[in-house]
Amino acid sequence: MTQTADFQGQGAISVKGLVKRFGAVEVLKNIDVEIKKGEVVCVIGPSGSGKTTMLRCVNLLEQPTAGKIIVNGFEVTDSECDIDAMRRSIGMVFQQFNLFPHLTVLQNLTIAQMKILKRSKDEAEKTARHNLERVGMAHKEAAYPPQLSGGQQQRIAIARSLSMNPDLMLFDEPTSALDPELVGEVLAVMKGLAKEGMTMMVVTHEMAFARDVADRVIFMDGGYVVEEGSAEQVIGNPQHERTKSFMFRVL
Ligand code: ADP
Repeated sequence: MTQTADFQGQGAISVKGLVKRFGAVEVLKNIDVEIKKGEVVCVIGPSGSGKTTMLRCVNLLEQPTAGKIIVNGFEVTDSECDIDAMRRSIGMVFQQFNLFPHLTVLQNLTIAQMKILKRSKDEAEKTARHNLERVGMAHKEAAYPPQLSGGQQQRIAIARSLSMNPDLMLFDEPTSALDPELVGEVLAVMKGLAKEGMTMMVVTHEMAFARDVADRVIFMDGGYVVEEGSAEQVIGNPQHERTKSFMFRVL
């Protein structure tokens, strides 16, 4: 199956009744999440609440047990879904950067463009340089990842994702592996993307970022979406006891 006919070429996520079990353990219990084009949604909550599993179900890195997920017009949970095409429409940034250490920064950004999108070397390099510019790393195109700081490597990983021209970006705790002084530069790049109108779902512990950038915040606990709303509501004035006690601990 290809993208649905009404798809407008814009990033969007619709998750309905998502259940995920690992063996007998149910880690997602009937999750509903909607993200519209251009929205930035931050997913917060205690460790083990199911945030990462939910994000990974969206691009089928985890197989949902039940429920319906539509991403960028692809019905991910339909067995006929063209998974490769669906994944090409999504940029994913993980805690670990997963750059090839033996390739230059520029080569790290061009390899998938040439192999998967069949772009010419010239075209791939042009796109790569444009995206290195976007993340403030144009001056490092000839460097090798091990020569760079964690923050710089994560910015390059973001530029690599952007070079595939995704309709939306998923971020799974992109700053959790970084030394504290390097977190800001990565968040600044993400904030820039949000301002440009990129559709983003961000699993994060960075409450200040969520407050500053998120159009909507989703608080998860125990495999449920407990509360969602504006950052001002969910972080600033939580209604549920579980949200309140989480905020008390992290703020
Ligand atoms: P969070 O991102 O909120 O920290 P996770 O989605 O990583 O939470 O994990 C939710 C629960 O699912 C945890 O109890 C975790 O141990 C469990 N879990 C995650 N991945 C697996 C797996 N591959 N096999 C078994 N249990 C898993």
